[in-house]
Amino acid sequence: MSYTGPEFETPQPRRPRRGPMTVALAALVPGALLGWVVYEAVGGGGGNGSGRTASVAPASTHSAAPSTRSASPDGAPGDDSKAAGTSLPLTGKVVVIDPGHNQGNFQHATEINRQVDIGTNRKECDTTGTSTNDGYTEARFTLDVAHRLRTLLEQQGATVKMTRDGDSPAWGPCVDERARFGNNAHADAAISIHADGSAEGDRGFHVILPGAVHAGAADTRKMVGPSRDLGTRVAGNFLRDTGEPPSNYVGKGTGLVTRTDLGGLNLSTVPKVFIECGNMRDSKDAALLTSGAWRQRAAQGISDGIVSFLRGS
Ligand code: ZN
Repeated sequence: MSYTGPEFETPQPRRPRRGPMTVALAALVPGALLGWVVYEAVGGGGGNGSGRTASVAPASTHSAAPSTRSASPDGAPGDDSKAAGTSLPLTGKVVVIDPGHNQGNFQHATEINRQVDIGTNRKECDTTGTSTNDGYTEARFTLDVAHRLRTLLEQQGATVKMTRDGDSPAWGPCVDERARFGNNAHADAAISIHADGSAEGDRGFHVILPGAVHAGAADTRKMVGPSRDLGTRVAGNFLRDTGEPPSNYVGKGTGLVTRTDLGGLNLSTVPKVFIECGNMRDSKDAALLTSGAWRQRAAQGISDGIVSFLRGS
């Protein structure tokens, strides 16, 4: 998200990224263990991705139009159950996808700099987000991943709602509105998609979990636990499906960061996390983030995490 300024967490000392991640996921995150096992099986994060595709279904398998509602890549449920009206795994579940920032924010500085109440304090309505050095914006990236994710979740039977889509709204929404969107939708899970804007050499993804806050309109105490479950499952599956390493500059190698300064989390009453898919200002990460095939894997990882959370398996 490139929260330069008050939202950017103080950089932490760089740490080895593989060891702590495996320890943390193995010890604390049963839901992510599968991702860790597969991650280890394919040789960790050191490859170029070609060795990993064998562990996940090809992206094209998942890119069928939503209307086809094809059988899952694992082969179940089959066509017979579909014809008989058998529920898909996420039938009845509501997922809110929040594509971070907005391309229009660049032309609406006054509007997005307006302060809004996030419970704990006041902050800017929204920020422009970052971009790669070649000008591929975070706002475009997040919307593209959101569209891919929506298709995958709809194929699983979920009802998907997005806080913004296409050119609407022209800017924003503000962070408080993004949070309330999920609340009003009674979302079973909500995720805000971002990519970071840190220094060259800073690599990897991290999932941002809400910390416990109770101030003003913010009360996350009941959603902290389920959000941690959601976030750890997303992290583990994202790791497995993309091979992207956990961040080497925040999170102490776990791929997980807890924050209490984000309105989009503080004002949420439903399970919600952010994911920073990579660092747009790092050349290696930028090469991935600008690849449609990689964004499909990113969406698959996020989808697998959400499906795991909603199925409780
Ligand atoms: Zn962002």
